[in-house]
Amino acid sequence: MGHRDIISACGLTASEIEGGTLTVRTPVDGTEIARLKTRNTADIQAMIAKGVKAFESWRQVPAPRRGELVRLLGEELRAEKKNLGRLVTLEAGKILQEGLGEVQEMIDICDFAVGLSRQLYGLTIASERLGHAMRETWHPMGVCGVITAFNFPVAPWAWNAALALVCGDPVIWKPSEKTPLSALATARIFERALAKFGDAPTGLLQVVIGGRETGQVLVESRDVPIVSATGSTAMGRAVGPKVAERFGRAILELGGNNGMIVAPSADLELALRAIVFSAVGTAGQRCTSLRRLILHESVYDTLLKRLIPVYERLAIGDPLSDGVLVGPLIDAAAFAGMNKALEQAKKDGGIVHGGGRALADKYPQAHYAKPAIVEMPSQTEIVRHETFAPILYVMKYREFAEAVALHNAVPQGLASCIFSTDVRETEAFLSATGSDCGIANVNIGPSGAEIGGAFGGEKETGGGRESGSDAWKGYMRRQTNTVNYSRALPLAQGIKFEI
Ligand code: NAD
Repeated sequence: MGHRDIISACGLTASEIEGGTLTVRTPVDGTEIARLKTRNTADIQAMIAKGVKAFESWRQVPAPRRGELVRLLGEELRAEKKNLGRLVTLEAGKILQEGLGEVQEMIDICDFAVGLSRQLYGLTIASERLGHAMRETWHPMGVCGVITAFNFPVAPWAWNAALALVCGDPVIWKPSEKTPLSALATARIFERALAKFGDAPTGLLQVVIGGRETGQVLVESRDVPIVSATGSTAMGRAVGPKVAERFGRAILELGGNNGMIVAPSADLELALRAIVFSAVGTAGQRCTSLRRLILHESVYDTLLKRLIPVYERLAIGDPLSDGVLVGPLIDAAAFAGMNKALEQAKKDGGIVHGGGRALADKYPQAHYAKPAIVEMPSQTEIVRHETFAPILYVMKYREFAEAVALHNAVPQGLASCIFSTDVRETEAFLSATGSDCGIANVNIGPSGAEIGGAFGGEKETGGGRESGSDAWKGYMRRQTNTVNYSRALPLAQGIKFEI
């Protein structure tokens, strides 16, 4: 299938994707695939006003009925999984299996949210006063702005939108300027669900195309009480304070620098497979990519001897082709960033295996990189930094406590894991003195989270939680209610106040 066929299979017409000022390129071969029209501030403000209007009626629709819309969205996504997955691959460069997996995550969160729409539970609370009842209830919040990154063009939107919609909040989506077509295609799928649903207000989902200035309008608007932003820590540093300044709620999902400890008792076969999938998958461009491998000295040589040849024969190429495991980096800047990090690592005493450009003759305008393993003498500044490319830094440890300390000594706190069959170590890793990350796994890599759990991380990863567990509470306002059904008016804390 040609690029145009992939785009038109998602229902996007030539007139929609031509004639604008935002140039979209596919990282597959670096060619231009669209020129989209962007929105100015007045347009975005009009969209926000439309979202506010939609909120006035959507918040009154019973939550299980709101869930029906998300159920229909899940159905439409099932029908379009192949087409949308292919478009994600074309735009973001991840291999087709991962493009399809991303759409499956959207379907999974829809299923989760449908169940949730009948379970937005509050609490009943024991009142200290005679003839009084206390409870906690949850109400819709308002318009939810969702800003997303290029590397997961659609799933993080769904983690937010499926919850926001059942919670009664309309959504305005600002996708990455590098992957806007996947967002437009998703909006088309959503429109089909809306048509089947029937009586929804207009403006429940609006997509706004543009760069960071576009996102800034949502970030600064008092009419957008929730801003959920996925992207780099630099972006979170700009967005967080702006949302806080107006007392909005920010859900920040930022960079990761994810580590794996491999202990002496580890099943090395399992560890090897997990390392390769999580370090080179999506060409090292997952927020949860494995970037730091902390090996016990007793397994160091054995594991590296196995790992380096696997890296050397990795199938790098067109992510739409069968059998390929590593697709391209998103653009030239990403490739330059990878080279710069490798140079710095060498200066710090690192020994580099792999790295460099692949397939330059075949794809002169694209940037395929050979994944790199770097043996580091210590955790220098470059290792503590998230370079969004397939670089795996490897370090050695002797004592378990040293491994945990090394693991936690980075500014980010997203995903982590340990390979060990020693229950003392694995439980210690998951304990209060173990991993300081939002996600901590045992005998499984750091990436590939299921939607049932809350997703997010600590420190410079931003602290936000999306997806499963009780992440839905981030999209609603909590209200504490006290009801007096007695004939007296006793005050709390036994206070006497007679008039
Ligand atoms: P990015 O920060 O360059 O851009 C992300 C989004 O934020 C884009 O839509 C961009 O237009 C917007 N944006 C940037 N600055 C903004 C501002 N000041 N105000 C409003 N919007 C702004 O990130 P990227 O290069 O697209 O994605 C890669 C980064 O995202 C990596 O750091 C990765 O770890 C992170 N990421 C995190 C998660 C997570 O769940 N924690 C998931 C995916 C990606």
